[in-house]
Amino acid sequence: MQTANTLIDEAMVADVVTEVLTRLRRPGDGGSSASASRVDGGNGHGVFTSVDAAVQAAASAQRRLMQATLGDRGAAVECIREVMRRDREELARIEFAETRLGRLDHKLEKLDLAAGVPGMEMLRSEAVSGDHGLTVTEFAPYGVLGVVTPVTHSVPTLGCNAIMMIAAGNSLVCNPHPSGARCAAEATRRWNRAIRERIGIDNLICVIEDPTIESATEIFRHPGVAMLCATGGIGVARAALASGKRAVVAGPGNPPVVVDETADIEKAAKGIIAGAAYDNNLLCIGEKEVFVVERVGETLMAAMERNGGHRLTREDIDRFAKMFIHQDTKTGHYIPDKQMVGKDAWVLAEALGIEVSRDVQLLFGVTDESNPLVPCEQMMPILPIVLVKDVDEAIEKAVTYEHGFKHTAVMWSRDVENLTKMGRASDVMIFVKNGPCMAGLGVRGEGYASFSIASPTGEGVTSPLSFTRYRRCVMVDSLRIL
Ligand code: NAD
Repeated sequence: MQTANTLIDEAMVADVVTEVLTRLRRPGDGGSSASASRVDGGNGHGVFTSVDAAVQAAASAQRRLMQATLGDRGAAVECIREVMRRDREELARIEFAETRLGRLDHKLEKLDLAAGVPGMEMLRSEAVSGDHGLTVTEFAPYGVLGVVTPVTHSVPTLGCNAIMMIAAGNSLVCNPHPSGARCAAEATRRWNRAIRERIGIDNLICVIEDPTIESATEIFRHPGVAMLCATGGIGVARAALASGKRAVVAGPGNPPVVVDETADIEKAAKGIIAGAAYDNNLLCIGEKEVFVVERVGETLMAAMERNGGHRLTREDIDRFAKMFIHQDTKTGHYIPDKQMVGKDAWVLAEALGIEVSRDVQLLFGVTDESNPLVPCEQMMPILPIVLVKDVDEAIEKAVTYEHGFKHTAVMWSRDVENLTKMGRASDVMIFVKNGPCMAGLGVRGEGYASFSIASPTGEGVTSPLSFTRYRRCVMVDSLRIL
């Protein structure tokens, strides 16, 4: 590990070398860009074997970004969007082939969503003028950000983080999930190549080629990393919070759904299937358990069967949980079997010895709270349905099984009082009323998208502003023109 001083000295040397190489090799000069990355110790366009080398290269790139015009910064962000749109088929296939999780059609949609997250337009300076002059608040970068991404959306999360962080003037070093590292590296090469060709800066996005928990820890502790953004389960959330650095932590969820007797049941059934089946239930915001008032329970399930769901018997849904939801002996938490995470509904049914059509999107069935699928973030297209006597019981149970993550909750109701009660009781970052979970990220709902929903640290749906420092610049008794 290096000290801050040696890091700065080496980074300055690297800056000079990179600058010279860039001048020698402006777009269209036909030079090999790989050698520029080799100078920084990488394997080409942002892919590094060592954390130190990655941080140095990212620091050098960030300094150059600060010297560039805002127009160039905007162009770098556009490059990331363009590559995700241009190469969507290939990137989705590469990620699907590597992770074997989720659905290819939804991987394509997730890349489109990631390409559309907000950029520099969010960084509008604020000004206040009055008798005592003028005060301007500007949004300044942190520098190099340390990033951890989940296997469930490796390329979309990295692309979304990169757009927001670079728009805010930062560079980033990412430790992707080991099972989604190759697709993250491939996307990184393409993004950096495009950015370098457009504005002459390489390595704004850096990834570790063979990521491990150790390399994540090294990033967390590295003196050249100013801030962290960790997206994943409870382990990485705790590690980032304990790092001693400012951290945006996008942790786990277990989003409950409440359906009361006033809901539009047909619409609720379609919405629950659409949300819970999305990418085979991999989304952290995805519906994970349903509490429905018993008076409308049967109507809801009949409508779910008509809309792509397959109903399991109580015995079968309990049997599935026994087979594929395991209890951690140390923590007591329920954990889904990795073999089944993100698999298609027909694969889950087959494991139970049940043959269903490949068009079936979601398995579901009535059970009760003793079934571990209720407390577990299953990340599989199988949904436990719990019948309750009234909306108050539904809300109480929803809050219990959300585990205080304060992440996401969904409710179907036409009763404003009930919706308000749930909104207050759940106190979540994303509360979707009368729509599938994706509406909370602007998919057929209003608002912008992000792939990092930071509930433990309170940023909620992250934006470029989440990765800035608010800097105030004050002129006393002058510049007031009114
Ligand atoms: P995971 O926790 O297994 O891994 C996430 C990342 O953290 C990986 O890169 C992993 O290598 C790293 N990691 C794990 N433990 C670590 C530790 N102790 N120190 C440093 N790094 C560590 O999660 P996953 O299976 O990849 O993704 C699914 C989980 O992520 C779910 O819990 C889901 O809810 C959550 N998630 C949250 C959001 C959000 O925006 N809040 C988005 C996507 C996924």
